Amino acid sequence: MNKGMTLPEKQTKIIATIGPATSSIEMLEKLVLEGMNVLRINSSHGDIEGHREVIKNSRLVDENLGVKTAILVDLQGPKLRVGDIDGGEMMLEDNSEIKIIVGNEAGRNGKIFTNYAHFAIDVKQGEPVLLDDGKIRLEVLSSDNKSEVICKVIHGGILKPRKGLNLPKTEISLPCITEKDKVDLDFALDENVDWIGLSFVRNSSDIEQLKSMIKRRDKHARVVAKIEKPEAVADIDQIITASDAIMIARGDLGVEVPMQDVPLIQKDIIAKCLSAGKPVIVATQMMESMIESASPTRAEVNDVANAVLDGADAVMLSAETSVGKHPIVAVQTMTKIIQSMEDGNKKPFNERPPYNPEDVRFITDSVCYNACRLARRTKAKAIVTMTFSGYTAQMVSSQRPKATIFMLTSNRNVLGQMNLVWGVRTIFYSKIISTDHTIAEIKQLLIKEGRVNKGDFVIHTASMPIADMGMTNMLKLSRV
Ligand code: ATP
Ligand code: MG
Ligand code: MG
Repeated sequence: MNKGMTLPEKQTKIIATIGPATSSIEMLEKLVLEGMNVLRINSSHGDIEGHREVIKNSRLVDENLGVKTAILVDLQGPKLRVGDIDGGEMMLEDNSEIKIIVGNEAGRNGKIFTNYAHFAIDVKQGEPVLLDDGKIRLEVLSSDNKSEVICKVIHGGILKPRKGLNLPKTEISLPCITEKDKVDLDFALDENVDWIGLSFVRNSSDIEQLKSMIKRRDKHARVVAKIEKPEAVADIDQIITASDAIMIARGDLGVEVPMQDVPLIQKDIIAKCLSAGKPVIVATQMMESMIESASPTRAEVNDVANAVLDGADAVMLSAETSVGKHPIVAVQTMTKIIQSMEDGNKKPFNERPPYNPEDVRFITDSVCYNACRLARRTKAKAIVTMTFSGYTAQMVSSQRPKATIFMLTSNRNVLGQMNLVWGVRTIFYSKIISTDHTIAEIKQLLIKEGRVNKGDFVIHTASMPIADMGMTNMLKLSRV
């Protein structure tokens, strides 16, 4: 890093959603310095020009600081939303009536609009309509079965533009990747972003479809499945297999399934991802009160802490950083909570022995497994992996070793991607002189950066012969 700045030391990564509060170069730089590893753009909000600007700014900041922030673009998927609101917000009073109309106008005078063309046809009298992750609850009084629905406000509140609209009791007939998503995907791929998030995934074929669209454009972006529907929870094993990472999107999930079921679903999905070696993100309302307040509630502190203890790769901020009043403090606070948990972490090391000798990755998996065992035995300071795809670093990470994980790669595409993964620090390295040379050079680098001291043990994994650029098959233990 340049400028003599240091980034906070932590293993669990932070994803921050960028919006009007944080799009500037100055704010993005502060977010990185406080611990943001992944920048998230939500295609549901703002416009493509604005998003392009954010990506440009982020890359300037990266260059300036000598880091590589991962970029995640979320596609909205079949998410239903209300439209714009005249004046920026609307108060919905308990027991009042409100009309929801299909169309693109701005809401006003007891009327709000939705983009969902089938809305009035799909809903039935008595069904709930939930707005803004369920914060506002309406009930359908009547529908004209064409374009207008009259609802009663059961629990009111202030409604802001483009908030989500959930119909937990209604069957919705939209494809997972909508026309809008295709436009947003094209933009994200043009910008060569690292990760694409897909909202409201229902099954693994939604993921396969997105992956083949990315492949068709010859791009490297990896796919995050946002788990927020009961169908996805039911099909979770296949979705984990098909995806590159999982996001537990608790906002919509807690509306689509009873909210009291979400904590166990979170723990269950994290455990499954750890044993599959897939990165997992805990998202939504982690520090919601910080949208307004300069410090989180104690319950929010516990929520972030528990996600870290459950074993999440990354924790995420949404409105806290996109539109909140204290985005920098929110990231700073999250960093402190993570550090406190990791310092005192008594969690056992996560064992992932490779089971299947027939698996093409058996040799690599065995090396990764034993690298972590060896690190634990010798109290090694660092595990250094050389990898082209990032696979080795991800497998080492999934066992949550205490040693710091350094990933060296000559593949610029994975530098940012792996920044989402627990504990992984990425370094660009393209020399292929010899394994001996590389190992010696990396050791010098780690000493120079103060990462290891004389007498420390360091573990290296690599592929020999180095010129083949094959799968990892070598493990080396040495003392600095
Ligand atoms: P999702 O279900 O994908 O999380 P969301 O509507 O909950 O969608 P978040 O990304 O969680 O959106 O962000 C929370 C809130 O922050 C949004 O509802 C919106 O009000 C605001 N927001 C996020 N990004 C932007 C943006 N680029 N411009 C304006 N407001 C934004
Ligand atoms: Mg959502
Ligand atoms: Mg959200």
